[in-house]
Amino acid sequence: MSDRTKGIARVALPADARLDTLAVREGLPPSAWGENSEALFLTSSFVHPDAATAAARFANEEEAFVYSRFSNPTVTMMERRLAALEGTTGCIATASGMAAIMLLVMGLLKAGDHVICSRSVFGSTIKLLQGEFGKFGVQTTFVSQTEVGEWQAALQPNTKLLFAETPSNPLTEVCDIAALAEIAHGAGAVLAVDNCFCSPALQRPAEYGADYIIHSGTKYLDGQGRVIAGAICGPADQIEQKFVPVMRSAGMSLSPFNAWVVLKGLETLSIRMREQSARALQLAQWLEAQPQVERVYYPGLPSHPQHALAMRQQGGSGGAVVSFIVRGEGAAAGRVNAFAVIDHTQICSITANLGDTKTTITHPASTSHGRLSEEQRLAAGITQGMIRVAVGLDDLEDLKADLHRGLRGLATI
Ligand SMILES: *Cc1c(COP(=O)(O)O)cnc(C)c1O
Repeated sequence: MSDRTKGIARVALPADARLDTLAVREGLPPSAWGENSEALFLTSSFVHPDAATAAARFANEEEAFVYSRFSNPTVTMMERRLAALEGTTGCIATASGMAAIMLLVMGLLKAGDHVICSRSVFGSTIKLLQGEFGKFGVQTTFVSQTEVGEWQAALQPNTKLLFAETPSNPLTEVCDIAALAEIAHGAGAVLAVDNCFCSPALQRPAEYGADYIIHSGTKYLDGQGRVIAGAICGPADQIEQKFVPVMRSAGMSLSPFNAWVVLKGLETLSIRMREQSARALQLAQWLEAQPQVERVYYPGLPSHPQHALAMRQQGGSGGAVVSFIVRGEGAAAGRVNAFAVIDHTQICSITANLGDTKTTITHPASTSHGRLSEEQRLAAGITQGMIRVAVGLDDLEDLKADLHRGLRGLATI
């Protein structure tokens, strides 16, 4: 809810309403018809009572809905609700998670500016920063997800933005948000955190000093794999000054329909995240005990290198994504074995998406990270034997049986 809708009425709620209540009620007051479920405003423009009012609204002298590229009641409801969950005063919704990152960079940076970004972020984020924004003279240095010293050492006088994503995909490496915020602020830069994997139900980066929080609403916020959506959360005045003007001219706006779907998804976010994470922990513990599994990557396990940090930062939860490596001598055997496990599943969806109630299974080395060379992949720790499972709401025993079907045929040494 940026300043552009400040003058637009709020839902009548007690000032101290808690998070679970805000998740189902924050937004806009009902329309003249008193609907209990939020309306879907499929309209491109809004009419004005007279020409003078139209002029005042176009000049930003009066807050009102004007045109859905700028703002729309359904989109505003989603923005207000997501901001409440992230604990920020503002939010601006975008057409996709990548559009949110594009808007972030367009709003904050200019040619000659420098970005420091984790090497372990979403592949398209790397391509966008290095490739697209590189073309426009924004330079990016990629550093370790976990070594804070590398971020400090990469600072330049023109560094304006630090960009992190935690936990990372598929290795679930966790970075220290508070430490990165301190480095950014010490250098007069800002920190943006892609909070896709945990969502505000588990991790609220603003509490650790992050200035902007990036979302792919496509994942847990919708939670049922239906729409593409994104958002930036942050201080309302900054969103108003830096991002709203870019949105108005560049138009990476979220469609009201997709906003409505995400708005409904936010109502069950907390319950879904808690339940999917609880099942993921149990699945991770079970995988760790399987003789055909070489290693399990899950922040909720004490064997995870950043377990203590993750538990602190993620509200005691490991999230719902578990990765593991099946045994097998060498890359070729690793791949054959990983494919065998994936192909023996009868329940898991073989897809690279995540954040769905349907559990998904993927082979990162040949899909999400298939465009990297084998050397780059190994440097990133992604081997041919690795499988990623994004745990949904399928029955846990069914999931174990689904993975066991393929695992039991593999050698245990
Ligand atoms: C999927 C994803 C994105 C991109 O989101 P889209 O909605 O697909 O554009 C960005 N960051 C992370 C961590 C993601 O998983």
